[in-house]
Amino acid sequence: MMRQYELVERVTSYNPDTDEALLNKAYVYAMQKHGTQTRASGDPYISHPLEVAAILTDMKLDDATIAVALLHDTIEDTDATRAEIDRMFGEEIGKLVEGLTKIQRLDLVSRKAKQAENFRKLLLAIADDVRVLLVKLADRLHNMRTLHHMREDKRIRIAEETMEIYAPLAGRMGMQDIRDELEDISFETLYPDARNTIRERLAILHSKNEGLITDIEEDLTQRLAEQGITAKISGREKRAYSIFRKMEEKSLGFEQLSDIYGFRAIVPALEDCYRVLGVIHTAWPCVPGRFKDYISTPKQNDYRSIHTTVVGPKRQRVELQIRTQAMHRIAENGIAAHALYKDGVTGGRNIQSMTAESRAYGWLRGTIDLLAQGESPEEFLEHTKLELFHDQVFCFTPKGRLIALPRGATPIDFAYAVHTDIGNTCVGCKINGRISSLVTELTNGDEVDIVRSQAQTPPPAWENIAVTGKARSAIRKATKASARQQYGGLGKHILERAFSHAGKDFDEAALEAHIKKFNLESTLDLLVAVGRGDIQAGAVLEVAYPDYAPAQGTDRNTSTPPAGSASEGWFDLDKGSSVKFKIPEGSEDGAKNGSLPIRTSVSGSLPVRFAPSGGAVPGDRIVGILTPGVGITIYPIQSPDLKEFDDQPERWLDVRWDIDPNAPERFPAQISVFAVNEPGSLAAITKVIGDHRGNIDNIKMIRKASDFHEMLIDLEVWDLKHLNLILNQLRAKPNVSEAQRVNG
Ligand code: MN
Repeated sequence: MMRQYELVERVTSYNPDTDEALLNKAYVYAMQKHGTQTRASGDPYISHPLEVAAILTDMKLDDATIAVALLHDTIEDTDATRAEIDRMFGEEIGKLVEGLTKIQRLDLVSRKAKQAENFRKLLLAIADDVRVLLVKLADRLHNMRTLHHMREDKRIRIAEETMEIYAPLAGRMGMQDIRDELEDISFETLYPDARNTIRERLAILHSKNEGLITDIEEDLTQRLAEQGITAKISGREKRAYSIFRKMEEKSLGFEQLSDIYGFRAIVPALEDCYRVLGVIHTAWPCVPGRFKDYISTPKQNDYRSIHTTVVGPKRQRVELQIRTQAMHRIAENGIAAHALYKDGVTGGRNIQSMTAESRAYGWLRGTIDLLAQGESPEEFLEHTKLELFHDQVFCFTPKGRLIALPRGATPIDFAYAVHTDIGNTCVGCKINGRISSLVTELTNGDEVDIVRSQAQTPPPAWENIAVTGKARSAIRKATKASARQQYGGLGKHILERAFSHAGKDFDEAALEAHIKKFNLESTLDLLVAVGRGDIQAGAVLEVAYPDYAPAQGTDRNTSTPPAGSASEGWFDLDKGSSVKFKIPEGSEDGAKNGSLPIRTSVSGSLPVRFAPSGGAVPGDRIVGILTPGVGITIYPIQSPDLKEFDDQPERWLDVRWDIDPNAPERFPAQISVFAVNEPGSLAAITKVIGDHRGNIDNIKMIRKASDFHEMLIDLEVWDLKHLNLILNQLRAKPNVSEAQRVNG
């Protein structure tokens, strides 16, 4: 535990003119007031304000701030009053302590309905004097450091609040060190398993690359020395939480993130930064798009540095930050760096001079001006909270619960953030009372009402739309379960057909008796295995009917029916649907079973694929061709390729589109275009397609004449209507003489 004299020594070490009497008086007052109070750890309460004060000495803050740190809990937790503190320590300190007391009373997370108002009060209290914020962050940091003494439910609530409010606030104020530590402890509390996994892998990586990091450090130092530049080079440790966040945000794997080595070069003067950059870019090729000059254009929070990434000595990617010592101090301490004592300056720096120095603080002042304009708390929240967390959006449930999401989040992410069940049953949404698409990017202040249906399972395509890790992993899990259901459905179809062609009754319930013979747990397992092609239908038939002898010449694996048992015929399955299907004559079971809804997925975890050329797009009438062990191949009904299956009616499956209008996917189609052979004609064609949001996959010139070209274009479209729109637009072009769908 920090001792009083150690604290005073720390302050005098950076401020020789410290008012030691003030610090001692504050300490004694706080100790007397807190008396026999203890912390959850069992330590005397005074250890807490002492540690908070110690954290602030790291930022070299003024006497008043240190005294306020010592006193910060007295009004809230003891019989101390503002009047008494004013009398003993002066009004400046009294006001700061009262500011902290106000914040203390804002329970930001648990009283969600009041969040907007509370946040407004928080910012008001902070903006009154930036030192309130500095003490508050130090207070939170010490509470986080001692969080393990708390009850679990409290721990989680505090960690969530820290992640939501205080860590971003520290970041926004440029206090990177505090932000990192707050995030790391919150991360440990909220996702212990994820954190352990990442840390273990980091440790492995670290030991594997130990030599490498020193090599790069030495190599860099030497190259810079040759140019007469003194730089302090240091390899940077990767933080588990930043890796976790990047994995979530960009859905990258650990390996993809960990091939970057981070180094920092700290140089004496500003012009050295650019000289270092020159040396580095001369020595190694730089990775395009990764160069950022935050020296000429500082970040909003005053951060200044040059960032670049090069392909380093052993072909690994090396990320460099180049900055001066002064920039480094701001990078680590942000707004607090402006409150530093400078040589010969004593006494507290006033707010005005800090405002002049810090853009971050300027931002804070700006938000206060907004308040002065008398906006309602809700409007205020919209304008500021939100601007504060510029990489997040804040939305509300209809009951006013605040849901914080990363920027780019959709109503799907929102639904999963509220509850996994809500995500899994989500079929639509209203944003601010208006029915909206589930792919809408949410904006700050949106009120989102999720429309649910118990019949829903999340379509696999959602995984690509959702941006939060929580939504993605839940969708993946649900998709797996639904893929299993579909394989099971396919297996059942295959078995029904095989049994029917063998003249045997198919009884799903009776399969139960046989699952042990296949070493399986359930009937569904068996159906799934047949659907996947792991078990042949004939094998099940043999087990179910041991006396069954396959008709001669029949390949039981593909269940080819005995000759003459089927004839072709088209039946309208459902008057409401335009889909037709083909079944063997005399076999009515297909019709009774209804059509198999195909939840198509181009990404393809399901046993459904599209015919390789001239695939079907939604709106096309489609038919499925069944291949046991492979799955279902979807053809548009007009496809000439279907001819080869004409004599195998048992392989034809009735299928229908089951597209989620809220999560559309693009589907491949092929078109052929005859165009005038003249400069710019290809560009005109691709422009038409692009203008109408078609996605070109491939273009092949198949015939070239002096006056005309014929080309095949593979493109992706939403549906038939979209495809026809593009074809019509192409036909309208003077240089296009013909535009047709292939197989269409
Ligand atoms: Mn405290």
